[in-house]
Amino acid sequence: MNRVYNFSAGPSMLPLPVLKKAQEEMLCYGNTGMSVMEMSHRSKAYDDIIKEAEKLLRELMNIPDNYKVMFVQGGGSTQFAMVPLNLFNGSKKADLVKTGQWAKKAASEAAKYGEVNIVASSEDKTFSYIPDLDKSKFTPDADYFYICQNNTIYGTRYTKLPETGSVPLVADLSSCIMSEVVDVSKYGIIFAGAQKNVGPAGVTIAIVREDLIGKAMDITPTMLNYKTHADNDSLYSTPPCYAIYIAKLVFEWLKDMGGVAVMQKINEEKAGLLYDCLDNSTMFKGTVVPKDRSLMNVPFVTAKGDKDLEAKFIKEAAAEGLVSLKVNRKVRGMTASIYNAMPVEGVKALIEFINKFEKENK
Ligand SMILES: *Cc1c(COP(=O)(O)O)cnc(C)c1O
Repeated sequence: MNRVYNFSAGPSMLPLPVLKKAQEEMLCYGNTGMSVMEMSHRSKAYDDIIKEAEKLLRELMNIPDNYKVMFVQGGGSTQFAMVPLNLFNGSKKADLVKTGQWAKKAASEAAKYGEVNIVASSEDKTFSYIPDLDKSKFTPDADYFYICQNNTIYGTRYTKLPETGSVPLVADLSSCIMSEVVDVSKYGIIFAGAQKNVGPAGVTIAIVREDLIGKAMDITPTMLNYKTHADNDSLYSTPPCYAIYIAKLVFEWLKDMGGVAVMQKINEEKAGLLYDCLDNSTMFKGTVVPKDRSLMNVPFVTAKGDKDLEAKFIKEAAAEGLVSLKVNRKVRGMTASIYNAMPVEGVKALIEFINKFEKENK
């Protein structure tokens, strides 16, 4: 069977050169005589892998020296607890913008440890836009201000960051990390689960400004304290070794492609083609207001809300090797997730299919 174009929201496609390299090195990594999966995380060979992964990530994202980079476990969802546990050390209040399912989950987790103030929400219109922010609603002494920068399920993204002054901005970049250039110095914490743009599930990246480390709540479990991972170079306990190794290969691939700025251009091109196609379609339409459209997740529905036609579309697309367009139970219709590893050809194949399907089903 041939490889398909996988439009899944996550886990998602990995670059083919990365999979090939992993295959080559599967049985015998370098001169170690074993696979990375079998190797001690205290070995020299593994130390080189994890150090190189961090170095490449720092280079690709231009991470300033006063930020720690950590490879932790538990996915994005564990960060929903880790953030408040580590940052609720002053007023125990956090501001949060409710832009979808992941922001909601972050809010309810934080509310277990402190007070969460929802400064704005787009729930009134099924999270189809990023709400405007009114600074007078911000909590001046909040311990942090929280956003989900790219809303995977609803397909929205921030194009402008909230101005939070001295309150640290915490952002969930799980579905957009390294898809476009970000200025890390604008954030207190960036975190991202790997399985959308970085590698296999199992490793989570946390980029934390140094002054925010070491003031966790007393009840914080050791493994959920950023200080534990910062002080031990992500090797306090056995890390997700193989996932970090694949992430390293993805970083090498991205660097070879020209880095994040080049990838951003490619992503803008891919997303642009697909949104143009949907805007010109009479059968389908995108669900997000144009100014807030995600570069990574493109939700769309039939203009008439025809569920049977949507099911037929998803089924016939899959038969042509365009898979996982069916989405999360939360929203109706389709989502094409077009992360970094989705080639332009995959997006063009989808567009061709949309046009063909539209003609055949008039
Ligand atoms: C996928 C996702 C998560 C959850 O990640 P898990 O690793 O499954 O816990 C959180 N936030 C965003 C924005 C996501 O896309």
